[in-house]
Amino acid sequence: MVNSIDSMERLRDELNSFPQNESIKKWKDQGEKIIGWVCNYVPEEIIYAAGFLPIRIIGHEGVISRGDDYLQSNMCPYLRGCLSQGLEKKYDFLDGIIVAHTCDAVCRLYDNWRIYVGAPYSYLLDHPHKISDSSQLYHYRQLEKLKKSLEDLSGQEITEASLVEAIDICNENRMLLKQIHRLMAGDNPPLSGVEVSDIIRSSMIMPKDQNNLLLKELLAELVPRKSSSNPGPRLMISGSIMDNAAFIRLVEECGAEVVTDDLCSGTRYFWDSVENNQNPLAAIGLRYLNMVPCACMEPPFPRFEYVFNMIEEYRVDGVILYGLMFCDTFQYDFVGQRKRLEEKNIPVLEVELEHPSLGLGQLKTRIQAFLEML
Ligand code: SF4
Ligand code: SF4
Repeated sequence: MVNSIDSMERLRDELNSFPQNESIKKWKDQGEKIIGWVCNYVPEEIIYAAGFLPIRIIGHEGVISRGDDYLQSNMCPYLRGCLSQGLEKKYDFLDGIIVAHTCDAVCRLYDNWRIYVGAPYSYLLDHPHKISDSSQLYHYRQLEKLKKSLEDLSGQEITEASLVEAIDICNENRMLLKQIHRLMAGDNPPLSGVEVSDIIRSSMIMPKDQNNLLLKELLAELVPRKSSSNPGPRLMISGSIMDNAAFIRLVEECGAEVVTDDLCSGTRYFWDSVENNQNPLAAIGLRYLNMVPCACMEPPFPRFEYVFNMIEEYRVDGVILYGLMFCDTFQYDFVGQRKRLEEKNIPVLEVELEHPSLGLGQLKTRIQAFLEML
């Protein structure tokens, strides 16, 4: 654990005070614009290149209140949580939102946000669900349209040089997150799974240059923990999105070490970089089309392969398949994923949560039983 490390504390301060965090306030005080994004398939590089700060819209720590006024209660709790926050005016500082069309639920968030929360600028980015030559071209055309739309908003051209600069800063952030994350592969990792989750999520809600500085400081300060005579089982959590670390905390309180993940709010956010060796917009397109896929993408096999590689590299003893209630896309994938894991004798626990931080007490016994089995 790194409770006394200054850079970790500062990253946590930013995260815990979000969306009223210091770096967002400073950005706004300078008269600059902020664009909120929903879904990993929104290319932050293009938002940066337009001169705006991209920040991820995340949901609620507790009860989903007003989101249920407009979205039916059997819809993705994460998105209902995001809408609640919007309706409660927590995101009033945004100058616009960009949402990627991946699952249907995310499009309903977009519709409702646009109508009931309101934003000076809103954009729905269509994203292909399959990878082929034609979908690659289609995706590139969608990115050109997004670029044009952001140019209209800023009143300035997005140049190749600004795209390259944005790619570099985002790639540096990914590289630093990866370096920190790789420390979890060793014995006695210097961080807990909760800390790693906090670090990753901090990178989504503050300017990348400032986040990069703190990550570099953190890397210099981290040292392996003292070896424990009885280290807990090493776990991976695979699934959709967590907008807080409450579930990971519960798993670690039960005695496990969460050494890696396959989550939209975890490693899938930063694992793949943009190959900056060609037309920068095309390079961005290739990264977002070919990155470790969400369950919304077809086929799911690259993600299954990614999970197996992670299991090997991080010496994982068991996998928790984590799904949010009413998320058909992940529930559908879990059937094939579970079968493949069990065929390789990798123990699996499947959990379905109403919300990443609610009703966790009921799961404790199941997690403890799973850990005893490992
Ligand atoms: S889980 Fe998939 S669809 Fe949902 S926000 Fe993450 S990448 Fe987008
Ligand atoms: S958790 Fe499922 S329903 Fe919610 S945004 Fe992700 S894929 Fe869509």
